[in-house]
Amino acid sequence: MPSIADALRSTLGAAQLDVAQRLASACEELGCQAYIVGGTVRDALLGLPAADLDVTVVSPPDDFPNRVAAFLGARLIMASQFGTAKLEKEGSTLDLVMARSERYRSPGALPDVTAGSLDDDLTRRDFAINAMAASLDAAKWGELVDPHGGRRDLELGLVRALHERSFQDDATRILRAARYASRFGFRLDAETAKQIERSGGYLVSISPDRFKHELERVFEESRVSSAIELLSEWEMLGLTGGDFVYDETSWSGFAEACAVGSSERRLVGWGVFSLCFQTVRSSGIALRWKLDHDASMVSMDALKLRERLRVSDLNNLAPSGQVALLENYSPYAVLAFQLSTRDGTTNDALDEYRTKLTSIRPDLDGHDVIALGVPRGPRVGEALQMLKNARLDRTVESRNDETLLVRQFVTKLDQE
Ligand code: ATP
Repeated sequence: MPSIADALRSTLGAAQLDVAQRLASACEELGCQAYIVGGTVRDALLGLPAADLDVTVVSPPDDFPNRVAAFLGARLIMASQFGTAKLEKEGSTLDLVMARSERYRSPGALPDVTAGSLDDDLTRRDFAINAMAASLDAAKWGELVDPHGGRRDLELGLVRALHERSFQDDATRILRAARYASRFGFRLDAETAKQIERSGGYLVSISPDRFKHELERVFEESRVSSAIELLSEWEMLGLTGGDFVYDETSWSGFAEACAVGSSERRLVGWGVFSLCFQTVRSSGIALRWKLDHDASMVSMDALKLRERLRVSDLNNLAPSGQVALLENYSPYAVLAFQLSTRDGTTNDALDEYRTKLTSIRPDLDGHDVIALGVPRGPRVGEALQMLKNARLDRTVESRNDETLLVRQFVTKLDQE
């Protein structure tokens, strides 16, 4: 493994390095120390490009956020009572966190936070691989601080919690463990695996918001399928025993079909997740995790669609009938259901619906049908629907055919 100083130089972008170095000078001036921490150090040692620059400041003076912003000529966007601040300069943002110590009063509750030393700050973290720091001080630039053996774990490919109460304090770490294990192809340290086994019950103690947030981060992993498989093997995802069934095909299909970072990824993720539950009511997932409006719609529609297609076979319907049925459901839910279905002909019908049928429109529009004699009002909608169905079922194939059909419609109306 490279030295952390070399690793940071090669994995941080020039702009991030520049910000980090200027921040270090600001800290020196203000009598405190800055360290790159967490995922940034981990990824540098793994030779992966840094997504964010995580910086922790030890012993910041009073009013540090304002003073450092002034020193850097940056704008202070946010400073919280928990010692976090966000600065903006020339369009890029920098997140600062003051080194802190945390104490958990009860499982799942938010911790009491106080200012702390670098050691405190590293000890409050989730896994040894995320509990390393690299100094930004000019005199000891890039010196690695690794009190928990994170570098060794990276070499061994291990996800290891820092203490035995870690998952009781914060059960979202179970989801995080699955994320890192699958992302890096690491295994759980044996003791950590036992702790997770004992701590599943604590997942109910965390707020729906925190669970949702971490699960949505799982959806964003490119190896989401193996992260969900791990969580399922550890029995962390059921509402009641055994009702969550991991399905490799759905999750691999999902990872391929929805781009990381797209809104589709998040929403279809909730649909696929909901469909892994075998016996849940249609609103069960949305209510349990207090999903937002869009995710609730997808979750409920996916489950309702599954029920509906248990009794109606899409393949017995003409294309217009398929569209009439499926357009009542969110398109994200239709995709989620398609990913989860094992029936080849249903899969083909859903694929055809999503990729072709939804974009089929008649040539004639409302003005055209009025010009052909359809009276203004609800009859216009009826005529357009008739044309759309005829297009879908291929009983008309040209503008001329459509015109003839509208004329027949008008004649019938005149006879009524
Ligand atoms: P990723 O690459 O997934 O974003 P990251 O390491 O940047 O990984 P973040 O969720 O951004 O992860 O958190 C930043 C750091 O904060 C982590 O590296 C970890 O040290 C710490 N951390 C985050 N969440 C927790 C938690 N629930 N418990 C303890 N430490 C945490």
